Amino acid sequence: MTAEDDIAPIREAVRALCARFPGEYWREQDRERAYPTAFVKALAEAGFLGALIPEDYGGSGLGLRSAAAILEEIHASGGNAAACHAQMYIMGTILRHGSQEQKQKWLPGIASGDIRLQAFGVTEPTSGTDTLSLRTTAVRDGDHYVINGQKVWTSRAEHSDLMLLLARTTPKDKVERRTEGLSTILVDMREAVGKGLTIKPIRAMINHSTTEVFFDNLRVPVENLVGEEGKGFRYVLDGMNAERVLIAAECIGDARWFIDKVVGYANDRHVFGRPIGQNQGIQFPIARAYAQTEAAKLMVEQAASRFEAGASIGKEANMAKMLASEASWAAAEICLQAHGGFGFAEEYDVERKWREARLYQVAPISTNMILAYIAEHVLGLPRSY
Ligand SMILES: Cc1cc2nc3c(=O)[nH]c(=O)nc-3n(C[C@H](O)[C@H](O)[C@H](O)COP(=O)(O)OP(=O)(O)OC[C@H]3O[C@@H](n4cnc5c(N)ncnc54)[C@H](O)[C@@H]3O)c2cc1C
Repeated sequence: MTAEDDIAPIREAVRALCARFPGEYWREQDRERAYPTAFVKALAEAGFLGALIPEDYGGSGLGLRSAAAILEEIHASGGNAAACHAQMYIMGTILRHGSQEQKQKWLPGIASGDIRLQAFGVTEPTSGTDTLSLRTTAVRDGDHYVINGQKVWTSRAEHSDLMLLLARTTPKDKVERRTEGLSTILVDMREAVGKGLTIKPIRAMINHSTTEVFFDNLRVPVENLVGEEGKGFRYVLDGMNAERVLIAAECIGDARWFIDKVVGYANDRHVFGRPIGQNQGIQFPIARAYAQTEAAKLMVEQAASRFEAGASIGKEANMAKMLASEASWAAAEICLQAHGGFGFAEEYDVERKWREARLYQVAPISTNMILAYIAEHVLGLPRSY
C-alpha cells in the first residue's frame, strides 16, 4: 500500500459527505452570509473535526496528512472548510501546552463538537502582522485576569464557545526577551458576552463569519491560562506550522476544483465553431495552473509527512502555504477568465470560489511574510523589518 492509499478511504468518506452539500447549498450560505451549520454538524458527527485529537481524549488520533486530506477534499468538492477548520487545530495549544486537567476538561467536548473552540484572537487593528506589538492586556487580579483591548478579524467568534486569546501579561518594557510577556488564555465566550466581551460582525468579501471583538474589564479565571504565563507567543508559533499545512491543503482542493471546472467548460463551450479549450490562450494557463498545483501538492505532502515524523517544518510549511495559495489563485484566474461573462454568474459557483481563493495570500499569513521568513531563516539573508 502506498502512503497515499492509506488515506484514500478518508478522502472517499469526505467526498460522500460533501456530496450532500452541493453548490446550491454553498451559494445560499454565501448569499445570506449565513453560517453553514448543517455542514459543520455533519462533519463533527462524522468525527472529522476531531481528527487530530488523540483517541484517549475522544478524537480519531489521526495525523496531519489525514487532516489535510479532509480539508482538501472539502474544498475540491466546491465547499469551504473555513467555518470550522480551526476546530481541528486551535486545540493543539491545549494538547501540547495545557495541563492534564485542561485536556480532560476540554478535549473530549472539542472532539465530539459539543464544545466549539474555533475562535483565535491574535490580530489587532493597530499591530497587524507585528504580533509582538499587540496591545490587549490581561492583568492579574487575585484569581482572575482582567482583560482589556480589541481584536480584529476574529473569525467564527459568534459560532464558538471558546476563544484562544493571545494577550500581553507582562509589559513590553519589563520582559527580558522581546518574544516573552504574551500569554494564551481560554475565554469562555458563553459566559463572557455582555459581561465585558462584545462581538461585532464584519461584513466581508467572502462568507467567513469574521468579527471584531472588544474586551472591557472582562474577568477570566486564572485557571484558563494555557501553559506558562509569558510564553504564549512561542505556543502560537508552534501551532502555526500545522495550520499552514492545513490551509495549503485547502488551496490544493480549491485548485483541483477550478481546474476540473474549467477543463469541463473549455471542452464544452464552442465559439468560432470549436471548443474554446482548443485555443492555446485558454489551455496553456490551465496547464500551467495544473503543473503549479501538482508541485505545490508535493510540498504539502512533504510538510505533513515530516510533521508526522516529528521534524520541525517551518521551511516546508511556509513554502507549502505560499505555493499552494499561488497555484489555487492561478487556477481561479483562468477558471474565471475562461468562463467569460458566465464566470460572473452566481450559479456557476466560479465567482464565489474565486473570491474565497483570494484570501489565502493574505491570511492567515501574507505572502510577503513567508518570503521574509524564507529569506531570513532559510537563506540567511538580513532581516528586512
Ligand atoms: C477573512 C479573514 C479572516 C481572518 N481570521 C483571523 C482570525 O480568525 N484570527 C486572527 O487573529 N486573525 C485573522 N485574520 C487576520 C489575518 O491573519 C491578517 O489580516 C493578516 O495576518 C495580515 O495582517 P493585517 O491585515 O494587519 O495586515 P498588515 O500587517 O497591516 O499588512 C498589510 C500588508 O503589508 C505587508 N507587510 C507588512 N509588514 C511587512 C514587512 N515587514 N515586509 C513586507 N511586507 C509587509 C503584508 O504582507 C500585507 O500585505 C483574518 C483576516 C481575514 C481577512
